[in-house]
Parts: sequence; C-alpha cells; structure tokens
Amino acid sequence: MAETERYTEIREETATRIDEIFGQNVFNDNVMRQRLPKKTYRELRRVIDEGKSLDPVTADVVAHAIKEWAIEKGATHFTHWFQPLTGITAEKHDAFISHEDEEGRVMTEFSGRELVKGEADASSFPSGGTRSTFEARGYTTWDCSSPAFIKESGCGKILCIPTAFNSYTGEALDKKTPLLRSMDALSEQALRIVRLFGNNEAKRVTTSVGPEQEYFLIDENLYKQRQDLMFAGRTLFGAPAPRGQEMEDHYYGVIRERVGEFMKDLNTELWKLGVTAKTQHNEVAPAQHELAPIYETANIAVDHNQLVMETMKRVAVHHGMRCLLHEKPYAGVNGSGKHNNWSISTDNGINLLDPGETPNENIQFLLVLSCIIKAVDVHADLLRQSAADVGNDHRLGANEAPPAIMSVFLGEQLQDVVEQLITTGEATSVKQGGVLRTGASMLPDVEMDATDRNRTSPFAFTGNKFEFRAVGSADSIAAANTVLNAIVAEAFSEAADELEKAGDFQMAVHDLIKKNLTEHQRIIFNGDGYSDAWVREAERRGLPNIPSMIEAAPALTTDKAVELFEKFGIFTRTELSSREEVVYETYAKSLHVEAVTMCEMASKQILPACIKYATELAVSVRELDQAGMDVSTEKGLLEEVCSDIDELKSALDKLMVDVSKAGRTSNEKEKAFFYKDTIVPDMAALRTPADALEIVVDRSLWPFPTYGELMFEV
Ligand code: ADP
Ligand code: MG
Repeated sequence: MAETERYTEIREETATRIDEIFGQNVFNDNVMRQRLPKKTYRELRRVIDEGKSLDPVTADVVAHAIKEWAIEKGATHFTHWFQPLTGITAEKHDAFISHEDEEGRVMTEFSGRELVKGEADASSFPSGGTRSTFEARGYTTWDCSSPAFIKESGCGKILCIPTAFNSYTGEALDKKTPLLRSMDALSEQALRIVRLFGNNEAKRVTTSVGPEQEYFLIDENLYKQRQDLMFAGRTLFGAPAPRGQEMEDHYYGVIRERVGEFMKDLNTELWKLGVTAKTQHNEVAPAQHELAPIYETANIAVDHNQLVMETMKRVAVHHGMRCLLHEKPYAGVNGSGKHNNWSISTDNGINLLDPGETPNENIQFLLVLSCIIKAVDVHADLLRQSAADVGNDHRLGANEAPPAIMSVFLGEQLQDVVEQLITTGEATSVKQGGVLRTGASMLPDVEMDATDRNRTSPFAFTGNKFEFRAVGSADSIAAANTVLNAIVAEAFSEAADELEKAGDFQMAVHDLIKKNLTEHQRIIFNGDGYSDAWVREAERRGLPNIPSMIEAAPALTTDKAVELFEKFGIFTRTELSSREEVVYETYAKSLHVEAVTMCEMASKQILPACIKYATELAVSVRELDQAGMDVSTEKGLLEEVCSDIDELKSALDKLMVDVSKAGRTSNEKEKAFFYKDTIVPDMAALRTPADALEIVVDRSLWPFPTYGELMFEV
C-alpha cells in the first residue's frame, strides 16, 4: 500500500487553488517572458508566431533558461518527446549531467543543439518500409510552438521537449510533422480567402481543436485476471451482463466516489501540465466516462490529447484501477470515441466558422462553408481513413456510432440557407431559434438555438465549429486534423484561384458558392445516420462506405490524394505509401495478438474449466441416476455443455491452423486481408461457444471475471 500512501501525500500537497497549479510545470509564455533576455524572448516569439526559423545563438540562450527552470523545479532528465506512427508517444531520458569538473562536482548541461535536435533510431519505429536497420538514423526536432513541460511520474521529473521525428533522408516518420505542414498550408490558403474580403491585418490562420475523450475504468485486480485486457486492451470473450446500459442511468449520473477521486487527481495532474481539462461526466455505458478540454491550436491540442491519454492511464494505476482507451472494450455496450471539434480562426480573432445572426448575409462564411462541404465530398475516403484504427473497426461500419459513411450535418437553419442558395442563387431569409416555453411559472423561458443536434452524423456543424465524431478513443487525433486542414486548404486554394482573377467579385463569389453547394450537395445529410435507409441512400448518391481500416488504407495513395498532399507539401508519395504500409502492418500485428490471446485463453483456461464442469456434471448424473432419480434435465445440460465444448475445440483448432497460415502470406497487405477475412470470422466462431458456456458453467469454475464484475465493480 506504500504506493497509495505516497500518492495520497502528493495529492494533498497539490490540492491547492486551480489558478495556482495551472501550468506550473509548463515553460509557457509567462515563464519565457520572465526568464529570457528581452531580445531572445522577442526572437523566440517571432519564431513561434510567424513560423520563422530559429538561429543557434537564440537556441542556446533558450536551452540554458529551460534547463535552469527545469532543474529548479526538480527535473533530473530531459527528453525529446515525439509521436511516431505507433499512435502513442516516445521518449528517451538523458540526465542533465556531463563530466565532473576539477573539484569533482558534476556539471549540468543542456545546449541549444540538444534542445533543437536529437537522434533516435528510426528503424525501430514503424516506417512502412522506408527505413531498414542499416539506415537507421532519424532526427527529432523541436516544435517550439508547443510548450515544453515537466512530466512527473515514477521516473521523477522529466523535462519534455515536444519534437517532430524525421528520417535521415527527411521523410516524416511521425504524426506531428505532417500536421504542422498542413497547418501552414491551411493558413496560407485561408489568408487568400480573408484577403478577398478585405482582411489585411491577419497574419496567420489557425485551426482550433477540442477533442472530447471517452474512456472506461476497471478495477486493477479484475483487469489482471484477464489476459485479453492485458494483451489486447479489450475483452475477447464475455457473455453479456444481466445489466448493461439499458437503464440509461449512467450517462451524466452521479460520479462514484472512487471514480471521482480519480478524476480529481487526473484534473490536477493535467492542469499542472497546462492541459485545460474542463468537463467531466459519466458516459452512456457502465464504467464509461468522458473528459473534454477547452479547445487550443491544433498541434497543441494533439500533444495535449496524448498527455490526457497517458495521464489517465498513469493516474488510474494510483487508484487501483486501469484506464481502457480501447474503442470497444466490451461487446454489446457502447464503445469509446473522440469527438474532434474543429474550427478555423484568424490571428485577429475572426472564427471563419461563425455564421453570425444572419448566415444568409455572411458571404465569407457561406464561401468557407461551401468549400468545406466540397472538401469533405471530394475526399470523403481520406477523411474516413484518417479516423481508422484497429479498435475503431468495431465502431465505424459495425452498427455503432458513427457510421463509416462520411456526410455533413448542417442543421435546419443552414440547410434552409443552402437550399435557397442552390435553387435561387440567393438566400433572402433565415430561420431563427425562437423561445423555448418551459410551461412552469418559476422556470424562465429560454432562447433556443436555430438548430437541433444530430448525434448520428460523423461530421456535424455545431454552431461555430465542426465536430468530427469518427475518431477512435485510443487514436491520435493528428491524422484527422492533418486531413481536415489539407482538404480544406485545397478547396480554399481552388476558390481563391478563381476569385482572385474575377472581374466582378460579388458576382463571382455568389456563383462559386452556388456551384460548390450544387455540385457537392450529395454529402449533406441531416437524417438518421445509423439507419439502413441511409446506407442505401448513400449508395444511391455514390458516397463511399468503407467498412474497415484496411479497406480504407488505399485512400492514402490514390492519384487524388497524392496530388493533394504533394501540392501543399504535406506528404510525399513515398511518405504516403509508407503510411499505407504501416496500416497493414499494424492491423496484422494487432489481430495476431488478439488471435493468439484467444487461443491461450481458450485452451488453457476456458477448455479446462468446461471439461472440469462437464466431468462434475457427469458424476452427478451417474450418482443421481443410481439413486433412482429422473436425470433427464441434468443429462440434457451435460449434452449441451459437451456439444459446446466440441464446437469450442474445433473452432480453436481452426483458428490455430489459420494463424499459422497467416504467417506464410507473402506481404503485409495480403496478411492484413487474411486476418480480416479469415481470422476475424474464426475469432467470432470461437467466441460464440465460449460465451454460451460461460452462461451455464458454474461461476466458481469460470476462469476469469465476467462482464458484470468488470463493469460494475469499479
Ligand atoms: P458541445 O456543444 O459539443 O457539448 P462544448 O462547448 O461542450 O460543445 O465543447 C465540446 C468541445 O468543443 C470542447 O472541447 C470545446 O472546447 C470545443 N470547442 C468549443 N468551441 C470550439 C471552437 N470554436 N473550435 C474548436 N473547438 C471548440
Ligand atoms: Mg460535443
């Protein structure tokens, strides 16, 4: 219990005012201003705000200041913190020490060079074939627009420098590099648009992102009794619990004490890191919860979301729990996702997605909206791909929120404006929200939004932002935002090309809005995205419906995608091919782990337990029979159990044979498809008799905790 005690101490120490702890472990603007010479501060701000490159002299001064600050705060090491294609973060710690001086005192050292550039073995991270072990060099480079921070953990205090990760030959090997490139592209093209409307002050346009993070908590003792949770992060077996989410009492329900204590610590840890953890609540499924931060610039939001996921896992352990970020830990109850709220603003404070009171008259907004609609229609396959990860295959396209078909929800008010524009080229009226009459004299009447919500749409307009709901809970949000930025940059660029040369701007912009909306209206859908009718309707409209991660992967390397990404310098063809390859590799490896784990559990745990149960049952049947009792029921049960055992054993044999066949496939893509088309059905075939047996076999013999225990004993 020493661990818990230690943690309680830390907790009491840090239970201070929110405004005092917020950002205390961050080398933020405030600290920079205090610690850097004026000239260096100004220079660094220019680098951060205007994307200028950093000179070595400034880098040295900054490095020294960061080091002094970190050491004063008790940091012993530093690390370049980066995001390889594993989807999680990577770090290698180096202590702030160098050789001793003449008097035997150890020197602390951290140079500008070490701040700006590091080296990491590129061949040990996924590279999709672009790196071999003999060409292993890779570099991490400082992203000074995302603030450095001190991470506190069992390792002590580590100064983390957010970095990008590239190969010796310059290819991006991470999630940050393309994101930063896409932010530049979007900024450049969006500036052309706002200039057309007379905004000459804006110097940069950025995308803001607020990702809502869903997760499950589980008791650590129960977790450790399940190999599937430990190895695969989700349950691979499990009969439904007597109670699931049908009572609808968990969503927004009172937060249980133990979970509340976890949330309290989680918030404190995140606030110290400057993460704006804002909203917390219980989600729909039992033991499922959500945390939402306040939105931030895209690259910082991506970094912070990684910190959120990492901190959730770490803090859960201190509370005797584990945090499950998998998209579908339990069959039959809601899975977890990440709603990626996304908007575009100028650095002089204009949100390009804010329609204002009268969107019909807001021509700049309508142009931006029409460009986004066009972008999503043209690149629906890419957007779908950007939300693909192994766990998300259990959500997208698998009868769960949201569907795998990309579409745009506008809501009543904008839909009406769009329809007017398409039919007459002019939108003369706008629906207003009105007032909600509560009907009780003590309750105030409230003003209503002009538009209701639609929770079934993957890409919904929600007032002054779009909410991309397809991203998986365990996934990085970098890819989704890279694609959003890229496709919208392209639509902006095409619009600007046309409008910049127009003789009559007003006329041209009206025509273009009408054209974009007319040509791409098929992507707009305001109805029920979960219904079968929508699947048929979407097919009729010619919209792609891509059910799995590996079927989505080729979207990365279509001519259309290569042209888009190369045009804006976001990915080269080589980088795209390597990313496609990584998808196949990741999929095959993850499914392999799941399949082998199932084999282990079935052969070493489930089968022995069931045979034991059957044997005990057989003995009872014989004894009861000898005692002259009617044993038809017991015999029937025994036959049922034996027949399920037969089915289980043959399914297990088939899975084992097929797993070895998978090892003999000739390339990663073929292997991935073999897993999807052969192993996944094998796994389902093995699960069915196992779950049936779980329902009848004596609980005291069943080898691991049940769904009811996993979800309700938190
Ligand atoms: P919802 O209407 O979806 O409940 P909330 O206001 O609770 O919206 O916000 C959900 C998430 O969206 C939060 O992370 C929030 O910071 C973020 N968000 C709000 N406004 C914007 C915006 N303009 N751009 C990007 N994200 C935003
Ligand atoms: Mg939301």
